[in-house]
Amino acid sequence: MNEEYQDIFTTTTCPTQQQLLDYVQGRLTADEQHEVELHLADCDMCSEAVEGLSAFKEKEKIPVWLRQMKWQMLRKLRTNKRRKNQISYFTELGIIVIVIMFILLAAFWTYHFVSNK
Ligand SMILES: [Zn+2]
Repeated sequence: MNEEYQDIFTTTTCPTQQQLLDYVQGRLTADEQHEVELHLADCDMCSEAVEGLSAFKEKEKIPVWLRQMKWQMLRKLRTNKRRKNQISYFTELGIIVIVIMFILLAAFWTYHFVSNK
């Protein structure tokens, strides 16, 4: 078995996020647990994920926490979008102010030129 093939093999047998959660929370059967453990020995990505999930002492709250993370990410994305809109609003405002200042300056110059004559 060459390395490339092994890589494909490990990624295709990755357990789902739910399975990893169940593993951390001890909800899997002995067979399933053994299967996940075998995979974790092979797969850095999954073993890191499990390590991260195990770090939480209140393991029952993990699914709630994941949902909150997703929600916070969505909120962040939405705020970023709003911020971008604000930037373009300020750019437009800046252009309008500059145009108005040029008109006022032109008017002042014209007035100055006329009154000097
Ligand atoms: Zn994996």
